[in-house]
Amino acid sequence: MLNPALTSRIVKVPCAGGVEPNMADYDQTVANFTWDGVRRTLNGLPAGGLNIAHEAVDRHVHVGRGQRIAIRWIGKDGARRQFSYLELMQASNRFANALRQRGVQPGERVFALMGRVPELYVAVLGALKARCVISPLFSAFGPEPIATRAEMGNARVLVTTPELYRRKVQGLRDRLAELRHVLLVGEAANDISDSSVEPWSDVVDSCSPDYTIEPTDPEEVALLHFTSGTTGRPKGALLVHAAVLAHAATGWYALDLHPDDVFWCTADPGWVTGTSYGIFAPLVNGVTNVIAETEFDAATWYNILEQERVSVWYTAPTAIRMMMKLGTEALRHHDLTALRFMASVGEPLNPEAVVWSQEAFGRPFHDNWWQTETGGIMVANYASMDIKPGSMGKPLPGITAAIVRRTGSGIVVIDTPDTDGELALRAPWPSMMRGYLHEDERYRKCFVDSWYLSGDLARRDTQGYYWFVGRADDVIKSAGHLIGPFEVESALIEHPAVAEAGVIGIPDPTVGEVVKAFVALKPGFEASEALQLELLGHARKRLGAAVAPKEIAFRTNLPKTRSGKIMRRLLKARELGLPEGDLSSLESDEK
Ligand code: ATP
Ligand code: MG
Repeated sequence: MLNPALTSRIVKVPCAGGVEPNMADYDQTVANFTWDGVRRTLNGLPAGGLNIAHEAVDRHVHVGRGQRIAIRWIGKDGARRQFSYLELMQASNRFANALRQRGVQPGERVFALMGRVPELYVAVLGALKARCVISPLFSAFGPEPIATRAEMGNARVLVTTPELYRRKVQGLRDRLAELRHVLLVGEAANDISDSSVEPWSDVVDSCSPDYTIEPTDPEEVALLHFTSGTTGRPKGALLVHAAVLAHAATGWYALDLHPDDVFWCTADPGWVTGTSYGIFAPLVNGVTNVIAETEFDAATWYNILEQERVSVWYTAPTAIRMMMKLGTEALRHHDLTALRFMASVGEPLNPEAVVWSQEAFGRPFHDNWWQTETGGIMVANYASMDIKPGSMGKPLPGITAAIVRRTGSGIVVIDTPDTDGELALRAPWPSMMRGYLHEDERYRKCFVDSWYLSGDLARRDTQGYYWFVGRADDVIKSAGHLIGPFEVESALIEHPAVAEAGVIGIPDPTVGEVVKAFVALKPGFEASEALQLELLGHARKRLGAAVAPKEIAFRTNLPKTRSGKIMRRLLKARELGLPEGDLSSLESDEK
């Protein structure tokens, strides 16, 4: 069990900053919600159909909001660029024209491999306007993961920088048989003498700023997103233009975006949070979207929050834990009065982190849950709702969630509250994936009796709040108990010495599996046998002997994916001397 002293502490922030939440009452909103209603708030293409880029950008220009700042970009070196909605419309039109001029056809795949620079955002929106499928990749990936994904995705166009091209793509060009056009952003690259490679400035800047988007079927594929690869080889999820309905609704309800907000999502577009919420949801909701090129550094991040007067902030537990590691002192001299809503996604948010944020920022992080496959937030803590620290909240209006158990022939829905089972969502919804690239069988297996099965275990309490238990693959079976690593990790990080914890099961002939924990310490604490015993004692006291780890090992860092998730499968493989499997998503280069 998660610590009742934390989870029973209800955190309520009534009307933060004097702004009324978009969702006044959860039950009432659920009762009145329809996806058709969301569709009516959007525009649709003049020529017919629905296109994400039109709803995100052009629509605002057509209703006279073209001068509003759409993107405010802050470079690593402090350089700044901003684009109004009108300028972003014109820039993305140029890119769509450039694709058309080069004969790139609707449905063909455009890959982007860049840091968070404005051209990346322009390319994503422009490719969608040209009805191409866009696939952004992490610029920090090495050559192999890039080649594998681009090869799998039949990349036709690649937008990258000369430096990334030289280091990561050039040597593997022979594997990318279908790649016809490479556009290089930034400095000149006279040393690259391949006829398919052209400078962005030559190709795009000379194109017309006018572009008419062709009718786009809402079911047309828009995005190819690879999953984080936390549990194995990344899967290529295909999302369609209709997903924009979910971007609109979740931006409005789950992130509580108001038209005057300044929003900052810290995720990279290389994973789905960085596109759904780093690009589409804020733009669809017409806010100013801050893009920071820099990686995590608490001081820099606090400066950005202060200087940009960020009002809504969406980040991830890994960053929050790093901030916790530094304590509240680092925050002291920053004026964060503009900040009114903070949300988190990607991993379970330990109750300790919610309570800490309430103390440190004067407002709590609102955890929400979703996956690459769901295309948008599915379960969330809403601005108007009390938070139970450690809970990921309630299903989005328009989404039916359930806790289910798989049987040999189908599934049964578990109605009894507080019972562990698999988190399932009733299919379909607009942003649901419509396929896994080249893996039809795997895709089909995700659906049983019209439910999408998430592969995550959770429980629902008597008040309808959902609680994450663990990934089905990570759950530990010990002496007849089912143990979710999250509750053990959460208990460990309540200890003042612990910054992060990763918990796995080690096979054991007597009890099935025994719980082993790996912990990284906060600055100022040294690994020692005494601390090990203290942590074991702390965990046993908090969790009871059956659930507490039997062993604790210290690590300087825990292995993580590029999107910052603890890779328990790798901790386990290393512990047991098993093959480490696909490591293409590993954060560091320790492969
Ligand atoms: P792969 O599917 O390749 O193993 P992944 O599941 O980490 O990688 P993503 O789609 O990026 O890829 O992540 C979704 C998963 O992240 C969820 O299924 C869940 O396990 C975890 N997750 C996301 N948000 C939360 C949250 N708020 N609480 C708990 N877990 C979360
Ligand atoms: Mg997954």
